[in-house]
Amino acid sequence: TGGRVVVVGGGFGGATAAKTLGSLDAGLNITLVEPKARYITCPGSNWLFAGLTDLLRLSVDYRTLTEYYGIDLVTDSVESIERERRQLRLTSGRMLAYDRLILSPGIAFNWDSIAGYTPEVAELFPHAWQAGPQTVLLARQLHAMRRGGVVLIVAPPDPYRCPPGPYERASMMACWLSRHNPRGKIIILDPKRGFSKQALFEAGWRRHYRYGEADGLIEWHSLADNPITQLDAQGRTVISDFGDRFSGDVINIIPAQTAATLAVAAGLTDAGGWCPVEPKTSRSLFDEFIHVIGDAAHFSPMPKSAFAANSEAKACAMAVIGLLREVEVPTPSWLNVCYSLITPEHGISVAGVYALDAAQSLVAVAGAGGLSSPAISGSAELEAGYARSVYRNLLKDSFG
Ligand code: FAD
Repeated sequence: TGGRVVVVGGGFGGATAAKTLGSLDAGLNITLVEPKARYITCPGSNWLFAGLTDLLRLSVDYRTLTEYYGIDLVTDSVESIERERRQLRLTSGRMLAYDRLILSPGIAFNWDSIAGYTPEVAELFPHAWQAGPQTVLLARQLHAMRRGGVVLIVAPPDPYRCPPGPYERASMMACWLSRHNPRGKIIILDPKRGFSKQALFEAGWRRHYRYGEADGLIEWHSLADNPITQLDAQGRTVISDFGDRFSGDVINIIPAQTAATLAVAAGLTDAGGWCPVEPKTSRSLFDEFIHVIGDAAHFSPMPKSAFAANSEAKACAMAVIGLLREVEVPTPSWLNVCYSLITPEHGISVAGVYALDAAQSLVAVAGAGGLSSPAISGSAELEAGYARSVYRNLLKDSFG
């Protein structure tokens, strides 16, 4: 079939969508717009804090997509979406027309959520929630921290990219401290009452990092009724709603999030800041020619993960081809698996299968997923190996 499909964003969602379209329908005209020549994966980026990897090993390019899947790569940013004309304005000034648009532009930060925390300040107190130079900076700050120093991690409110991410980060930081700075401490200040895989994380922290003891390497505090609302950068202190102060040698603030700026500016988000979609086709509820996948989309109860973005992208590509060919769109089911490392030899996971119910809403299939348990997933050592192989497979599956 002919048809111009433009995919915006060359992350896990966009790359998978472009690759799937290219492998299913050679007649399509597929363009991928992404400003960066190389993509650095957030999955695996927490491993940097334990000294297990580096940015080069977390980087991937688009050569396979262009050479083997016929994707036309445009290294540019989309400035705006002219929805009535079904065209995009790129930063270079170039215009790109589409019959169907797939958006996977990821997240933006809500800079109003913590007073004093701005994009400029984040260059000194990195969030490191988009893997890249900030990840390296945060790792350097951790590795250079004074003996017995304190790392503060300010976790974000739901919903956000990678629900287990802040806690895997604390684990990997503790792994480093246990070897190089054993009197150091990581304090997680959380606006939530609980978090993903909490019982598994806490059991792992007890086993490896003296969690719950006075000299433990990790402390977790729920500040659900009194969240952090302010940063005093000069004083290296974060301040809660009621004025409680917490000082740190290293401060990692992970702000509240929304869909990427492009999606917000195009009027594709709801009051919550995310793009509502019809799950079966991932079509925007606000524009029938635009599909939104990945972190930017509201795909609850699926979490915002690379694995989920990859799964959403495959279903979306099938739907786009069905709509272009004017044939029935297949009814998909979706998958998510999220692994986290507590130590290099201790992995934990959560898995889920998702499907449409009678009302065409997305629901978790009962009994089809779950958390690590020795009976199902084998040992913690095996799961640590799976964490690495799932990462490699996901990268290969998404970027070719
Ligand atoms: P992204 O990967 O963010 O890609 C969006 C792309 O769009 C970017 O490359 C950006 O340059 C581009 N873009 C944005 N705006 C424009 C524009 N205007 N024009 C053109 N291009 C644009 N997930 C897992 O499954 N497993 C894990 O182990 C895991 N670990 C994580 C650890 C950390 C520390 C973090 C932060 C995240 C982790 N995740 C993990 C989550 C995962 O990184 C995201 O869910 C995933 O990247 C979402 O993919 P996406 O395609 O929606 O967005």
